[in-house]
Amino acid sequence: MNPGKHLTIVGAGLAGSLLAVLLARRGIAVELFERYPDPRQHKIPAGRSINLALAERGRAALAHAGLLEQVEAFALPMAGRMLHDETGQTRLQRYGQRDDEVIWSVHRGQLNQTLLNAAEAHGVNIHFDRRLSKADFDAGQLHFLDSQDQPHAHDFELAIGCDGAGSALRQAMQSVTELGIREQALGHGYLELSIPPDDAGDFRMDPKALHIWPRGGFMMIALPNPDGSFTCTLFLDNDGDPGFKQLEGPAAMRAFLEREFADAVALMPELDRELAEHPVGFLGTLYVDRWLLGDKAVLLGDAAHAIVPFHGQGMNAAFEDTVALDRLLAESPDRASALKAFQEERKPNADAIAAMALDNYLEMRDRVRDPRFHLQKALEWELEKRLPGQFIPRYAMVMFHPEIPYSQALTRGERQAQLLADLSAGHEALDTIDLEKACATARDRLASV
Ligand SMILES: Cc1cc2nc3c(=O)[nH]c(=O)nc-3n(C[C@H](O)[C@H](O)[C@H](O)COP(=O)(O)OP(=O)(O)OC[C@H]3O[C@@H](n4cnc5c(N)ncnc54)[C@H](O)[C@@H]3O)c2cc1C
Repeated sequence: MNPGKHLTIVGAGLAGSLLAVLLARRGIAVELFERYPDPRQHKIPAGRSINLALAERGRAALAHAGLLEQVEAFALPMAGRMLHDETGQTRLQRYGQRDDEVIWSVHRGQLNQTLLNAAEAHGVNIHFDRRLSKADFDAGQLHFLDSQDQPHAHDFELAIGCDGAGSALRQAMQSVTELGIREQALGHGYLELSIPPDDAGDFRMDPKALHIWPRGGFMMIALPNPDGSFTCTLFLDNDGDPGFKQLEGPAAMRAFLEREFADAVALMPELDRELAEHPVGFLGTLYVDRWLLGDKAVLLGDAAHAIVPFHGQGMNAAFEDTVALDRLLAESPDRASALKAFQEERKPNADAIAAMALDNYLEMRDRVRDPRFHLQKALEWELEKRLPGQFIPRYAMVMFHPEIPYSQALTRGERQAQLLADLSAGHEALDTIDLEKACATARDRLASV
């Protein structure tokens, strides 16, 4: 085995398969292990989040891997949030003021398969039906079980954990060193439902938007799929009123959905079956203080920093991780320094997007209903137009500006939020705000950012 030229990745999900492509492109022999059978040949358990929002950070990583065009072929652009009120009235709130400021709905399965095809085309050796069960870091050996519980051992130099929020590699690392793991449950869960295409195979709602039914303490969202359907996700308190426990049983849940989301329920012919079959998913944030074990193992993506899905950034952040790790492994003098530099670069960003994702739940389910929110949005856009580069709305920094690290988006966003609150205080509409003066104040207060 040629040291440094032979790496092992555990988990062939989104991050693992993209990382495999990046490493293989640099001539590294990559062994990629996945617990499930090949999704291109077998139907894999339905799983969660059938589609995902891909934003500029993720697109930049795909472009870096030479895969953006392939993914764009099945990605659907969404220009804004379509807000649905209780009476079924809708209002589009654009994500950005430029036409290219859109986010993209992508099918998780299709994206994963595209990445697996690319990995294979670059010579990655993919081992499906191999679930990591144990790791012996001193002996440099990983132990996998197949679906018949037959053991398979694999010698490794560096094990890269891309095995998701419940990472087995993280557990194995934690058994030999304290990683500082903290899991914070959100207390809210999610339930996936669907709106199929109409009889002609067309979308039943506008496919160029991410639909939101904000209801204060809870919400439902819907993202379009290329087949004309929408995947809807209800986010709701687990124990509260209303809550998943309180609404247990399809009849109670149906009555609740009909009351709160009548316009959507009218488009859900499969609702009863889905309510009987679909499980409620867990939501939480995973904080891990140490992502590495010397030069033997490292974690990335959800294995290192799973976050709540409200900014649509978990996969985007995981994709950024893969580019950073690949770059640092190529640049650093030795592997231990590369892994250390990786954690130093990415951990503050992971913490920042975790915080912004939690905050975005409040924005999506509640603040979007407040007229002050819309006034501040209008003011943000004026400042962005008049102070290019100096004032960029936080949402835009996260979604459309991959050159701004998450940690900067968080700190700049905090100062901007205070500024917007001050400038809009006492106003009900943009036309009563002195925009010249507002710009001068913004210039002054943001000068040091
Ligand atoms: C409801 C919901 C909505 C979301 N929406 C978005 C969104 O809109 N935009 C966005 O950017 N992100 C979104 N996310 C987050 C996104 O799904 C994750 O951040 C992303 O999947 C992380 O990729 P990963 O490769 O790290 O982990 P995963 O995608 O979880 O991949 C892990 C892989 O490891 C495999 N594995 C697990 N254990 C083992 C083992 N012991 N041995 C071998 N293999 C193993 C798994 O089978 C899987 O293939 C959402 C998440 C949820 C729950």
